[in-house]
Amino acid sequence: MTLQIPFDNSFAALGDGFFTRVHPTPLPDPELLIYNKSLADDLNISGDQGAVDIFAGNQIPQGADPLAQLYAGHQFGTYNPRLGDGRAILLGEVTDKSGIRRDIQLKGAGQTPYSRAGDGRAWLGPVLREYVVSEAMHALGIPTTRALAAVRSPQVIFREGPLPAAVLTRVAASHLRVGSFSVFAYQGDRAALRQLTDYAIARHYPGAQGPLGLLQAVCDAQARLIAAWMAVGFIHGVMNTDNCAISGETIDYGPCAFMDAYHPATAFSAIDRMGRYAYGNQPSIAVWNMAQFATALIQQCDDRQAAADAATQIVHAMPDQIKAATLDRFAAKLGLEAPQPGDQALVDDLLTLMQTQRADFTTVFDALTHGDVTQAFSDPAPVAAWHARWQARLRQGADGGAGAKALMQRSNPRVIPRNHQIETMIAAALQGDYAPLHRLMAALGSPFACTDPALRQPPTPAEEVQATFCGT
Ligand code: AMP
Ligand code: MG
Repeated sequence: MTLQIPFDNSFAALGDGFFTRVHPTPLPDPELLIYNKSLADDLNISGDQGAVDIFAGNQIPQGADPLAQLYAGHQFGTYNPRLGDGRAILLGEVTDKSGIRRDIQLKGAGQTPYSRAGDGRAWLGPVLREYVVSEAMHALGIPTTRALAAVRSPQVIFREGPLPAAVLTRVAASHLRVGSFSVFAYQGDRAALRQLTDYAIARHYPGAQGPLGLLQAVCDAQARLIAAWMAVGFIHGVMNTDNCAISGETIDYGPCAFMDAYHPATAFSAIDRMGRYAYGNQPSIAVWNMAQFATALIQQCDDRQAAADAATQIVHAMPDQIKAATLDRFAAKLGLEAPQPGDQALVDDLLTLMQTQRADFTTVFDALTHGDVTQAFSDPAPVAAWHARWQARLRQGADGGAGAKALMQRSNPRVIPRNHQIETMIAAALQGDYAPLHRLMAALGSPFACTDPALRQPPTPAEEVQATFCGT
């Protein structure tokens, strides 16, 4: 039976100003490398034939209405008035089993009117990186776009050298970003802003009232998201406003990476020389991004000054909001259900020990949960004193610490997608060996279990990845 995708498209109904209709560019001899059957089931997609042609962009499935979305964005703080889907094409939307509308998009599907100098393609490496890391994030319980399929072609594209072209099929609650709003705000198109605001509210936050209600809802979602990233050591790498989703999902896995040794200044992205998007800067960048969102949203308000005052209050509340959400997450990592005064210091002191000794972030919390934490540090002496404080704090809990272990087990992943393993996986895939890809996917699907202990190992100094690339 041919693949059936029950499209029901709403974005396309917004009208011409929001996108350009464009078909994917065919890709020769595509090979389906990996297909997310359980996600397909969840999206009510049925059938199994012809999938490779659809996911390569060679065949337009029944009901699709392919288009490239218009958006702008602040890239490393500088406004770029015209970005848009330069290599991504939205096929359309489906409603999943829980009633949520989801976009199905081909990333790397060829040029669009927004491609600027780009070729509209993606190569195999970033496609597999996004596939693995986005699915790992999902398994960790972190809001994220998903990966439905990856195909490769013998067609070569040029990056550092000739590399095989590939297409990722991405699934998202929507692809609306901060930059989707900025583009109309900077053009002074209040009607389009209003239309997009109503659409975003109806699609994502039906309870929200008007632009300020939407701002509050997105700030709340972003605060929760950043806290979740911080708690697993995730570094997005390009938190530009065009990569900041209104839905509150993690989107655009370019030079993203999980931190190995703990240090707040950790940044991997080769294009982030100043460390703007370093691990420890993510909370303040999220606030900066929401300030840009606020600036765009209020352009549609009749009483601009009153709206600006209210928006300022919402954005100014965010640092404390992120701090509280992050403390909740880190307290849970230590088995503490409800943080109390003093718990921030307990967390901070542990992180300082980790930073000083360059301890591996994931290993430390795993050892606290399952083993002997002193083994995760090179100098155990100062750790013992911290450990005694922590134990005393646990005993003060309402249940004397009885629930701590279960809470820690579901808060501290045993396996994360480590950079060196991703690099190894990509190198093997380039040679046609997909065993490492499937092995990673199997382990990362149950990150709180320990199904494949070898994948838990931090990199040796020789294996350490120094820089990551967007792959554009
Ligand atoms: P990104 O860094 O992937 O979020 O992309 C930033 C902008 O560059 C977006 O407008 C992308 O659509 C565009 N872009 C990235 N890579 C390509 C490419 N290979 N061809 C055309 N446009 C691209
Ligand atoms: Mg992007």
